[in-house]
Amino acid sequence: MTDSTPVRATKPRQTRPRTEGWEQKKDADGRPLLQFASPRRSMPPVHLADLTPEQRVEKVKELGLPGFRAGQIEKHYFQHYTSDAAQMTDLPAAGREELVAQLLPSLLTEVRRLETDRGDTIKFLWKLHDGSLVESVLMRYPGRITLCVSSQAGCGMNCPFCATGQAGLTRNMTAAEIIEQVVRANRLIADGGLGDPRKVGHEGERVSNIVFMGMGEPLANYNRLMQAVRTMVDKKHGMGMSARGITVSTVGFVPNIVRLAEEDIPVTFALSLHAPDDKLRDELIPINSKWKVDEALDAARGYFDKTGRRVSIEYALIKDMNDHAWRADLLAEKLNARGRGWVHVNPIPLNPTPGSVWTSSELDVQNEFVRRLNEAGIPTTLRDTRGKEIDGACGQLVATAEDEAAAASVLID
Ligand code: SF4
Repeated sequence: MTDSTPVRATKPRQTRPRTEGWEQKKDADGRPLLQFASPRRSMPPVHLADLTPEQRVEKVKELGLPGFRAGQIEKHYFQHYTSDAAQMTDLPAAGREELVAQLLPSLLTEVRRLETDRGDTIKFLWKLHDGSLVESVLMRYPGRITLCVSSQAGCGMNCPFCATGQAGLTRNMTAAEIIEQVVRANRLIADGGLGDPRKVGHEGERVSNIVFMGMGEPLANYNRLMQAVRTMVDKKHGMGMSARGITVSTVGFVPNIVRLAEEDIPVTFALSLHAPDDKLRDELIPINSKWKVDEALDAARGYFDKTGRRVSIEYALIKDMNDHAWRADLLAEKLNARGRGWVHVNPIPLNPTPGSVWTSSELDVQNEFVRRLNEAGIPTTLRDTRGKEIDGACGQLVATAEDEAAAASVLID
């Protein structure tokens, strides 16, 4: 090019979202189908963790024992991570097996386990009592252990980039199925199964952080989600975890963001926004056809107002789709329009998929996106994508044909 060659301004590329290798279900108007109601499927037997502390006492009495036995079983299950009657020697031997079988029925059968990051990240594939498959991912970081849990088998939100959304919603998980993922992870940690067992100093460790970013839209299974969260934070009758360590995320189920803010449990709240403009977000996150960007952001700001907890905005950076500088500016503008100090942004580079429209932004584009937000006064940190080697990062949890085959040969406990 010589000095006299006219310079053509290159228009930023705009890649439209599209599903690859699967067909998105559409409604009569051609819009992606949203599935809010759980199909009627057989649910697992009622478990201790499905009940309130008062209901547990009632249940134990119904079984012919004094109510205080409920507290003993709670301790064994939530704090010592066991469902094994033989270990509950403080319960009367006569009838112990039956009591435990009634209160702690088996819920998850492990199909397989994949490890990476030298054993510091483990993905579990679980089979539920009706054969549905769900996953959870356990990750050790310096100073904390995080478990990414599933709240639904499948998901009805139909996001075109998401592996979980492909199969639609199989069913809501029960509170106890959600809790059991944590109990099983804690048991594995207590047995020295997370990270290098030769390292010392891990005694008494357990899951410190929960993120509801596995399979499912947590706020579409609201009551069971909240029952599970209450058990997680209950110091006397549950796991005694810190509410701050629990992150409830949503793609924008606005009425239930408002409900969550009304609960007296200040969990960390994350909104998976992924686009600041309705034009793109309608395609990228189909629930946006129901509740728009501004409504979701207003609800998120409302969460901060009620709880004082700073909100996280999750933003998967996808090459040429949502990673434009003008979108960073628009996002900053919309967040600043709702005040200062109430929010931070977590851009997450999408896992690289060469040749796909769903691929990671270039490094310089990622950095520019982050720089613009920070410059506009929005605290922004690029998040790591731990677990991508085992497809355990967000939007990647789905039962593959290989998983199905492995599961077929596993008998339910
Ligand atoms: S991204 Fe989340 S809400 Fe969307 S389909 Fe996947 S699991 Fe569901």
